[in-house]
Formats: sequence, structure tokens, C-alpha cells
Amino acid sequence: MVLILSLEPGIGIFRPDDDMFDDLTDLYQQVILDHSRSPRNFHRLENATCTAQGHNPLCGDNYTIYARIEGDIIKDISFQGSGCAISKASASILTDTLKGKTTAEAKALFDKVHDMVTTGKSSNGVGKLAVFAGVHKFPARVKCAILPWHAVVAAVEGRQEPVTTEKEDT
Ligand code: ZN
Repeated sequence: MVLILSLEPGIGIFRPDDDMFDDLTDLYQQVILDHSRSPRNFHRLENATCTAQGHNPLCGDNYTIYARIEGDIIKDISFQGSGCAISKASASILTDTLKGKTTAEAKALFDKVHDMVTTGKSSNGVGKLAVFAGVHKFPARVKCAILPWHAVVAAVEGRQEPVTTEKEDT
């Protein structure tokens, strides 16, 4: 295996040889396409205890996240809205992942995912969310992937104003 050390700022990672990298990318793209074509938890949650809106004006992604939180457990979570394949797949996998987790676990996962999509380094415990690691190579799409996460954190924290990636520093 040929390891290439990239010296570009912020991307200091080892890259496996090209064939393996392409295979991995194909697999990840399939997962993202599958979730964007048939998103999970894509409905309004009637008994939601909190909701938040997220808007990414650069791409036109617009979503509402619904969550039913009991104590500090996310009992149920869903979303509605429209946007590109990356943002929709992100919201779909996110809602699948966060069901049954605590609000503290959700925020910890946000930090890991944020780190991953901005640096490309996937850390332990991100599970299926690792499919978004490649997004870091496309800076314009980082906001698409992270938008539903900003909305979830806003919902969990009970913030009322809509989240926009215009104000957020990704
Ligand atoms: Zn987008």
C-alpha cells in the first residue's frame, strides 16, 4: 500500500492507495444516494417536544427537525424539508443514529461529525456517519452535511430562532 502524506494545511492525513480509496468512496456514495432517495424518518412528528429549522442559503437546503425528548433521552426524531442529496442523507442517517441517545450523546456526536467533515478524519464511534468523511474535500458541501446537525443541537437546546449556515462558522 502506498501512503501519501498530504501537506496541505488542515488535511494532514494519510491516504490509502488510489484503488482502495475509490472503492471506499463508491461505497460511501451508494449509502448517501440510498438515504437521499429514500430518506428515513422523513415525516412530521406529531408529538414532538421540540423542533428547529435549518437553512443553508448557499445551496438552498431547508429542513425542520422534530424531536420528542423525555428526560434527557431522544425518544423519537424526524425531519421534513428539501435540499441536496448530501443534506438529505445527512438528516436521514442522523435521525436514525440519534434515536434512543441522550441529548449529551447527541452533542458529543455533533462535535465528532463536525470534526470529521472539516478534516476528513473519522473518529471512533461515528458509525454509519463515517460515509460523510469524504465531504471535507468539497468545502462548499460541508455546510450541507452539517446543517441538520446544527438544527438538532438547536432543537435539543430549545433555541427558537431558525439556524442558518450564513451565521454559523460551519
Ligand atoms: Zn446542500
